Amino acid sequence: MKTISVYLISAILAVGLVKYDQPTVLASVSHNDTGAVESKSPGDSDRKPLSHEQLVSKYRGRRPSAWGSSVQGVLTRVRTDQKVIFLTFDACGGGKKGNGFDSELLAYLDREHIPATLFLSGRWIDANPETARRLAANPIFEIENHGFRHKPCSVNGRSAYGIHGTSGIGDVIAEVEKNADKIEGLTHHRPRFYRSGTAMYDDVSAAVVKDMGVTPVGFTINGDGGATFPLGTIKARLLKASLGDIVLCHMNHPEGQTAEGIMAALPIMLKRGFTFARVDAYSPSSSLPHGSP
Ligand SMILES: [Zn+2]
Repeated sequence: MKTISVYLISAILAVGLVKYDQPTVLASVSHNDTGAVESKSPGDSDRKPLSHEQLVSKYRGRRPSAWGSSVQGVLTRVRTDQKVIFLTFDACGGGKKGNGFDSELLAYLDREHIPATLFLSGRWIDANPETARRLAANPIFEIENHGFRHKPCSVNGRSAYGIHGTSGIGDVIAEVEKNADKIEGLTHHRPRFYRSGTAMYDDVSAAVVKDMGVTPVGFTINGDGGATFPLGTIKARLLKASLGDIVLCHMNHPEGQTAEGIMAALPIMLKRGFTFARVDAYSPSSSLPHGSP
């Protein structure tokens, strides 16, 4: 009996350590233990990112034919038969309200050991350098790229929600690279995922980002409507999340009800047997882009 108890305690401790203390191991747990993330198909990781000059020469003159948050090439969900959900929180920056920090929300995720992906913009990082450093040092959280100036991703300056998009291929590259430099300064590794400001893309700019070796990310569930939804709506949206869904919420509006909605929904989701993973536990070639069979 004693041996069994010791074994059980060791096993519980081991799972805890593997799942929450080591981000690299977390990824392999998703791959090997739960099967949540499918294996990479051969060749994908071998594709070399194109240089600035190669990108300009490949895409110069290409006219966009689609615009949205789920255009071809944008990751909106992860193909899996496991009950795993990907929670993502944007920090958009800009103005007094945009630069806020929802400490209640992040403290809850940390306390409950809920892994999450945080998309930080350059201007939010500039306004919150100490907080950004602290979050980057916490292995529960994955820090990814929300753009240097929080621009919609466009090769011709198309706007979304009144925000001007990037104006050309060079501007798309700068929007991604300049903030990747900032994030690398925090995390000591290059971000592999990018969600544009407003999560809007044209198909050409999404292809440019992919050829930079970065995965553009959208979402399946708009969880908090830019932190404007009331608690009940946020809770109801989260409870609709299913296998491999990417949920978009915000971490820069403490005055909104995002934290309250998350705290209302997550205990129910956990009881229903869902687990949560960071987006970097996913391998790009296993994606199920919107509209794919
Ligand atoms: Zn944003």
